[in-house]
Amino acid sequence: MIRSDAPILLEICDLHACVEHKAILKGVNLTIRAGEIHAVMGRNGSGKSTLSKVLAGHPAYQVTAGTVRYRGENLLDLPPEQRARIGLFLGFQYPIEIPGVSNLEFLRVATNARRLEMGDEELDTFAFEDVVRDKLAVVQMDPAFLERSVNEGFSGGEKKRNEILQMALLDPLVAILDETDSGLDIDALRIVAGGVNHLATAENATLLITHYQRLLDVITPDYVHVMAAGRILRTGGKELALELEERGYDWVDQELAVLEAAAQGRTPVEVG
Ligand code: ADP
Ligand code: MG
Repeated sequence: MIRSDAPILLEICDLHACVEHKAILKGVNLTIRAGEIHAVMGRNGSGKSTLSKVLAGHPAYQVTAGTVRYRGENLLDLPPEQRARIGLFLGFQYPIEIPGVSNLEFLRVATNARRLEMGDEELDTFAFEDVVRDKLAVVQMDPAFLERSVNEGFSGGEKKRNEILQMALLDPLVAILDETDSGLDIDALRIVAGGVNHLATAENATLLITHYQRLLDVITPDYVHVMAAGRILRTGGKELALELEERGYDWVDQELAVLEAAAQGRTPVEVG
């Protein structure tokens, strides 16, 4: 829900980033306030995952210009684990498997790190089991998954549910979900999207990176952003997602060609 007086949680200004000396993000601007749900859409390769990894602090990505403030604090100065502790959560597009590490123990250690930061007491295994059991319901997950290694042998849908379980436990202020909908069948999609809706409050915010309109049938975004060539080309409401579904991305290429021509001081060439 949009409230213009709600506190700003995340403020991204003119963010540029590169990976392996290749410029990927070329001036991203985005402000996210408490209570808001933002969707970022865009073609493959437009830089959506790069944006999420830069925000999470992935070491392969270098910020070359711009700023990111998280509740007024310079996020880019903080190591990734500190970003997580203070309430930034990234749900991976491709959750990794960690053989040999118990899912329950992994979730408990992560939850305790966050709890300590918030001034809550740490939970021992028994107390944590009670907490986690409540949260399992959010994603309709079988407790048997807690006894297994992190994501090992989980199906695509089970991995994504495990991501949302992690999110439910960590209680982030800003959750970035990178294509949490990809690879899900319709039932798993409903469960995952329902979990995201359930966890959204007036105090936190969600940034959903998605390819598909169908996720936005279940989760209503306050803003939809279209990313192209490493920047946000256009921002609108939910109707922008519908427009993308109907018209595809050709108009994005045309707008981009105009912008790039203007930047180089020449007349654009017709595209398409
Ligand atoms: P999206 O998530 O929108 O599909 P990505 O952010 O994954 O886009 O990728 C944007 C561009 O950055 C792509 O051209 C991709 O090949 C490149 N890229 C992303 N990560 C790496 C990496 N680790 N090494 C080399 N190129 C990368
Ligand atoms: Mg991606």
